Amino acid sequence: MAKVAINLATGAIQQEELIVGIDLGTTNSLVAYVHPETRQPAAINDLGRGTIVPSVVHFPADGSAPLVGNEAKDFLLADPANTIYSVKRLLGKSYRDLGQHAGQLGYKVIDDDTEGLVKVRVGERFYSPIELSADILRELRHRAEHALKTPVRRAVITVPAYFNDSQRQATRDAGRLAGLEVLRIVNEPTAAALAYGIGLNPDEEKTVAVYDLGGGTFDISILRLHQGIFEVLSTHGDTWLGGDDMDRAVVEFWLKKFQLGRDFQEVPALQQQLRLAAEMAKRYLSQHDDFTTQLIDGDEDVTVVTLTRAEFDDLIRPLVARTIAACRQALSDAGLGNLGSEGMGVGGSEGISSTSPSYPPTPLPSYPKIDAVLLVGGSTRVPLVYDEVSKFFGQPANNSLNPDEVVALGAAIQADILAGNRRDVLLLDVTPLTLGIETLGGLMDAIIPRNSKIPTKAGRQYTTSVDGQVNLKIGVYQGERDLVQENRKLGEFILSGIPAMPAGLPKIDVNFFLNADGILRVEAVELRSNTRQQVEIKPQYGLTDSQVEQMLMDSLTNAKQDVATRLLIEARTAAEQLLYQVERFLKKNAEHLEATEVSATTAKTDELRQALAGADRDLILRRMDELDELTRPFAERVMNISIKQAMSGKKIG
Ligand code: ADP
Ligand code: MG
Repeated sequence: MAKVAINLATGAIQQEELIVGIDLGTTNSLVAYVHPETRQPAAINDLGRGTIVPSVVHFPADGSAPLVGNEAKDFLLADPANTIYSVKRLLGKSYRDLGQHAGQLGYKVIDDDTEGLVKVRVGERFYSPIELSADILRELRHRAEHALKTPVRRAVITVPAYFNDSQRQATRDAGRLAGLEVLRIVNEPTAAALAYGIGLNPDEEKTVAVYDLGGGTFDISILRLHQGIFEVLSTHGDTWLGGDDMDRAVVEFWLKKFQLGRDFQEVPALQQQLRLAAEMAKRYLSQHDDFTTQLIDGDEDVTVVTLTRAEFDDLIRPLVARTIAACRQALSDAGLGNLGSEGMGVGGSEGISSTSPSYPPTPLPSYPKIDAVLLVGGSTRVPLVYDEVSKFFGQPANNSLNPDEVVALGAAIQADILAGNRRDVLLLDVTPLTLGIETLGGLMDAIIPRNSKIPTKAGRQYTTSVDGQVNLKIGVYQGERDLVQENRKLGEFILSGIPAMPAGLPKIDVNFFLNADGILRVEAVELRSNTRQQVEIKPQYGLTDSQVEQMLMDSLTNAKQDVATRLLIEARTAAEQLLYQVERFLKKNAEHLEATEVSATTAKTDELRQALAGADRDLILRRMDELDELTRPFAERVMNISIKQAMSGKKIG
């Protein structure tokens, strides 16, 4: 039962405060909630304006408040420099991350310092993608408050499964800026599965494929539900492939087929007319076989243009084939399919790949291990998409929920769970990439392995490698490779003020705390002195989506070589430590050693040093053994002397 409160000032009855679910999309955003009485999730439709809010922000020339949604979308062509779309692509990214794509946007992206986060320039002002996302979130919040007649302060927001730490943090910051307490950041495919009722029963074991084709992005995720935990087995896709490409293909087709004048490519209003007609045709053909409309040029001349379903299917076939290739890759990454020789991995492809896949794709056997294929995103309404996806997975895809709304509905269900209204459900997520720190020799020491349930904490004890070391640099990395240089650096900090002690004596606990949103806090404590230092991993610069995928892929393909490299580095590190100890020993105990012992030792250390310059691990190990053997007898002798001295009351060293 819902609680109610009476506002004494107005006499209005207020409902219990709701937590909403928000799909902050690249093209479109939505807000949804679970109805307190019916317990059903529903997308919010304020003032009958529809549930979809285009993710577009327009800054009017007169400096008045920005417009968001359909009102802003109207300015996309008329005033592109002041109309910001696809801001989600910029979240948590640096100019360098955007690369060639920076120039493809209709507005200006500023490159003030390549490591820094991008900003968007509008007139004389600069906006961060966080601020722009906050404008969209604020609009959604207001619509929800207006429609539900209750304040909305708390929300669950969805992000793509491949979003990294910086991008998640940026999304959370945008929420806060919009006056929302973001209770949880949830993966979009996880939300979609929830909307389909998958994950609501803790005893359920399922593997699902979530195929999400939106306006400008395509994502395929394979999820495994096990004991109330969603594990992302693999995610793949193309961050520059979606419904917009279909629209463009139709525009190109019409320009040629109906010999439309140059004006349609050059005059913004006519370009707009053509683009809108193309999108209309695409949507219409999702339900009909023929489309006809009229285009009117600058001289009021009318051209009748047509498009049949068959023509449209031919236009988009290569696009659909690319999504199927990515599905094949995702299955293979998840260990559920074999990437045959005909398979063309879209692995790591961002943007348009030069090799266009052969079509039709080779029919594959059905994947008995996939329990359901869920369709998400407006572009999955295209019949050819439905057909090809069903054919590829060997089972009818599930499209029973509105593909525009399914992610927001799932977010609302997650919000309802967090509100404590579904106590039987425990929903956990997992971290997609391993988190660790750099240890001697540039090795990655994993602290939280990938696919760990979150929230989680884990730690490990370290020590210093040099006598009297008072500072310890802690570099935090994300990735699957054995060498930190192959992984992504999340940040670093210095634990300073360690009291000077011999190497190996300080006890330094490093702890990682990963919260439910996948945001990391790292803490280091020197236990003997209680010196402590911590860092919240703040967004530095992001990885592109395909980079994350590439990192996972590389970790598999390079696993063997990584092991060899790791062993070599470990041997080198051990050798360096041995050399350090032996030299220290020689210096401190010169008085107790024979000249021949010193010269023999120096000769051996030189040999070890030579071996170190090469990459022969066995040789390094052999030289270490030899050095060890040579020095052990007199090391023991000196030790005995020291002990005797100590027993007679003298200090050692
Ligand atoms: P995103 O998740 O990227 O924000 P959406 O899931 O909202 O995007 O998808 C938007 C895309 O879906 C647009 O390209 C739009 O034209 C397309 N779309 C919406 N409805 C239909 C339809 N009936 N048939 C074909 N495409 C559609
Ligand atoms: Mg979406």
